[in-house]
Amino acid sequence: MAMEKRSLLTSLTVVLVFGGGLVTRAGRIPPPSKKPAFEVLPAALVDRAEAIRERAPTESKAYDFLHDLTSEIGPRFSGSANDRRAVEWAQRKLKQLGFSNVRAEEVTVARWHRGEATGEIVSPVQRWVQPLALGGSVATPSGGIEAEVLEVAGLEELAKLERAAVAGKIVFLNHRMRRSRDGTGYREAAPNRRHGAARAAELGAAAALIRSVATSTTPEAHTGMTHYEEGVPRIPAAALSNPDADLLEEQFGGGKTVRFRIELTCRDLPNGTSANVIGEIPGQERPEEIVLLAAHLDSWDVGTGTLDDGIGCAIITDVARLIGELKPPPRRTIRVFLAANEEFGLAGALTYAKKYASDVKLHVAAMEADFGAGRVWGMRSRVADEALPAVRDLGRLLAPLGIEYLGNYASGGADLLPLLRYRIPLFEFPQDATKYFDAYHSANDTLDKVDRDDLSQIVAAYAVVTLVAAEFEDGFGRAPKFNGQWPYPFDRLFEGKDLPR
Ligand SMILES: [Zn+2]
Repeated sequence: MAMEKRSLLTSLTVVLVFGGGLVTRAGRIPPPSKKPAFEVLPAALVDRAEAIRERAPTESKAYDFLHDLTSEIGPRFSGSANDRRAVEWAQRKLKQLGFSNVRAEEVTVARWHRGEATGEIVSPVQRWVQPLALGGSVATPSGGIEAEVLEVAGLEELAKLERAAVAGKIVFLNHRMRRSRDGTGYREAAPNRRHGAARAAELGAAAALIRSVATSTTPEAHTGMTHYEEGVPRIPAAALSNPDADLLEEQFGGGKTVRFRIELTCRDLPNGTSANVIGEIPGQERPEEIVLLAAHLDSWDVGTGTLDDGIGCAIITDVARLIGELKPPPRRTIRVFLAANEEFGLAGALTYAKKYASDVKLHVAAMEADFGAGRVWGMRSRVADEALPAVRDLGRLLAPLGIEYLGNYASGGADLLPLLRYRIPLFEFPQDATKYFDAYHSANDTLDKVDRDDLSQIVAAYAVVTLVAAEFEDGFGRAPKFNGQWPYPFDRLFEGKDLPR
């Protein structure tokens, strides 16, 4: 039923485009009275960018790539047998699609085995729940840990508690993530997952439970990395689905004492190998200059890694392929970088930065796709001031897709983070994240969450900017120095990692 409505909407959209106005999910955008005036982009380049923007919806093969990756490989936890199969698969796929210089560059990765998880509200009312270990968690002793539960709203409340109030208990960080288009709800909630176990352990807790960093209402819990810290005991850490967290929350009614038992059998494995997969569309005039498109090939072990981040791999591969089929081919090289180990340490990003640091001056632009399947609603840049007129022109090219230029403060994605210090010009495309956190990092991260119409809008957006970055003679200069205010504290991961200056 929903599908029928969707295709009706699609046909309606097409009719209205030709009827002189564009209907987007955000509403009606009046047709421009005439072509917008471009400040610096040459007319021929504007024509090519408009052409690829219009072709993307009919010629995109991103959905097929994503279908094949998720059905032929499925989940791709870093360093697992499936991850290694994905590395082989991706190289074959890039070659089939006509990429050059296809290669796998080895990355040493930490590995971890999930094992089994059991959870039980012991009292006041016995109920079984389905916890999911957070990535990297240690196991409980065999037979599990049974203890009184201490419920806190989040890290702030936990920080105010004395050791005596926490020691020996299972700390339950019960922050309910807010649904938001721009992902701000995630930024509020995610620190509980990353730091909850370490902060609770500092106060002597026996284990940490979190309400999933997710907006879903289904029984699946959502995983994600928990960060243990030097000198702090490693305690078991797991997430509960929203319905299970509700169940636990209700037990406290009337000030009752709540006891919980949790058993986890996860464990660390010895380091293993994975690889960054790279493929290129060689530039015809300046092959040494690179437009870098990044996404990560690894995923969590639950679900099929569709939204996180199979779709990013599909988007950037398709964008490069579409541009590679243009006549004449692009002036600069477009490099697709399918990163290893984004979910479990960012070793792929770090390996890339170390390997190519001497070439970073030749990276003329970089962008990453890792925010699910929602439509792109904005574009941010991080370019030299002199290049802002060209970026405003990009905004004009993106406007018919319902995309607004937001400003010159992009910070890139996680796989570009170690490159930030090299001041590579960046572009980023905030996507509608309203539904993303219903599925990501869970068994529900599957292909049915992807709308083909939305996917081709994303491809069109990346294609326009990639083409201009590959073609625009003047380029975007060097990005302004990064002030360190990345939305996630990943930058600390790179301290002491010997990245070249
Ligand atoms: Zn991701």
